[in-house]
Amino acid sequence: MTSIVWIRKDLRLHDNPGLYHAAEAGKVLLVYIFDEDEKVGAAQKWFLHRALESFEKRLESAGGKLYIAKGKPEKILKDLISQYDISAIHWNRQYEPAVFNRDREIGETLHDQGLDVNTYEGRLLLPPWDVKKKDGEPYKVFTPFYKAMQKHDIPQALPSVKNIKTVSFNKKDSLSIDDLNLLPEINWTDGMEKRWTPSEEAAVRRFHAFLDKKLKVYKDKRDFPAEEASSALSPYFALGLLSVRSVYHSIKKNAEAAGEPFIRQLVWRDFAYSLITHFPETETDPMNDQFEKFKWMDEKDQFDAWKKGKTGFPIVDAGMRELWSTGYMHNRVRMIVGSFLTKDLLIHWREGADWFDDTLVDADVANNVMGWQWVAGSGADASPFFRIFNPTTQSEKFDPDGEYIKRWIPELKKIPLKHLHDPSSAPEDVLEEAGVTIGEDYPEPIVDHKAARQRALDRYDDVKK
Ligand SMILES: Cc1cc2nc3c(=O)[nH]c(=O)nc-3n(C[C@H](O)[C@H](O)[C@H](O)COP(=O)(O)OP(=O)(O)OC[C@H]3O[C@@H](n4cnc5c(N)ncnc54)[C@H](O)[C@@H]3O)c2cc1C
Repeated sequence: MTSIVWIRKDLRLHDNPGLYHAAEAGKVLLVYIFDEDEKVGAAQKWFLHRALESFEKRLESAGGKLYIAKGKPEKILKDLISQYDISAIHWNRQYEPAVFNRDREIGETLHDQGLDVNTYEGRLLLPPWDVKKKDGEPYKVFTPFYKAMQKHDIPQALPSVKNIKTVSFNKKDSLSIDDLNLLPEINWTDGMEKRWTPSEEAAVRRFHAFLDKKLKVYKDKRDFPAEEASSALSPYFALGLLSVRSVYHSIKKNAEAAGEPFIRQLVWRDFAYSLITHFPETETDPMNDQFEKFKWMDEKDQFDAWKKGKTGFPIVDAGMRELWSTGYMHNRVRMIVGSFLTKDLLIHWREGADWFDDTLVDADVANNVMGWQWVAGSGADASPFFRIFNPTTQSEKFDPDGEYIKRWIPELKKIPLKHLHDPSSAPEDVLEEAGVTIGEDYPEPIVDHKAARQRALDRYDDVKK
């Protein structure tokens, strides 16, 4: 039997169900299709380019060869099926609403044409429809979802694929990775190149280093951005260089008790996918429809200042600069910058989500939408709208030594800790000694937090009426 393996956000040999089962069954044509409509952001395109380069080599070491194409998958797959006399197709599912629907149609059409169509769970601990309430309704609150999930067995990870019997094709028929034009035209990716090695081997190494060194301090330190105590595995999960099931079972085996807080985060990821699958409209609309009426603002200059890390609030600016420079931002800081955008600036969470989609190497529709709706107060199990983060006290609490701020805002390095979280309120002589003129070397705060907070609460009152 000759099958197509449709490679997607699963750029790995280990625990790759689609690839594994097809390779067991016989000869395979390995196909990667870049479809512009899938809307991959600029930073993730860079990661994808590098990840494809390393995956191509991994496949070759197992005897495989990647056929690369660009365009509409339905057309490309149809052509390949007739050209190479294919009788089966295998793929691991994706759950971005538009992609999921497109793939379902492709599957139905191919099945009607007599093809053996096989889809698998290669992205999550469990398929998003497996964990439901007793009455069959999906969960909207995390804790009961988590408890229900604990009652399920998570399937074991599959072994790495070692022997691929590949269909040979004419090299001229396939595009090269460069032909996909994934790299940005501007000179932007130095920080990302320094921070990330987009390969399956690097993902597995990073996970083992985390397991050996950081997992024991994860619970206590994960909220402190300067510590870098979280796993930083999200970009690898986002494009499937690492299997979440293999990580789950490895933690269960090696560190059951210490691993619980980390596993909880993996389950948040499954929860996000459950939400986007059952409530696909929440990709753009508020989960809590009270917020349909919310009056957002459209302040372009303030939005630009936020994007550039020039709001005058050091913790917000540090986060936004980390994002631009490395394609990543610490989770606590994502919450702070998100709260600042949606509550202090009253800019629609969708604008923030779009910027994150474009600049995060770990951009992931389900996690991003859930994160933004959570900070905006409009989502499932969200932080209530009236709980508005004070960026200065958040900064004092979670960056107590100011290390994270100084790492990303070097112009504030000489400001004493006492004033670092709110430099515009430092006395003149302190600023002079530190060589900082507010408004020149570092911006004035673009809003007065106290007044902005009240304004947000007033708008919220209007919505509740
Ligand atoms: C406004 C906002 C936007 C976000 N956008 C994204 C996004 O586009 N892509 C993304 O992967 N995560 C997103 N998150 C969730 C979270 O910030 C990142 O998953 C986390 O910071 C990644 O770092 P890590 O791998 O070190 O996490 P760890 O703490 O080591 O957690 C391990 C893994 O669990 C998952 N995870 C952790 N926290 C969450 C969470 N809150 N929700 C869902 N899954 C989680 C991730 O896959 C992560 O890699 C967002 C959060 C917020 C508040």
